[in-house]
Amino acid sequence: MSVSLHRKRPLHRHKAVTTHVLSQHAGIPYEIERTLCSDCRRVLGERPLRRAAA
Ligand SMILES: [Zn+2]
Repeated sequence: MSVSLHRKRPLHRHKAVTTHVLSQHAGIPYEIERTLCSDCRRVLGERPLRRAAA
């Protein structure tokens, strides 16, 4: 999904921080690498990593 409407908001350089979160899908744990801005908390990107070793 790409909701990138340019609304009126102060422009700043996103301070991207990468966090690894563990999500579960159909009972299977997945590790997700989530990049978000530590400033505005905007999620910049998300990509699934390989399945977490149980
Ligand atoms: Zn930001």
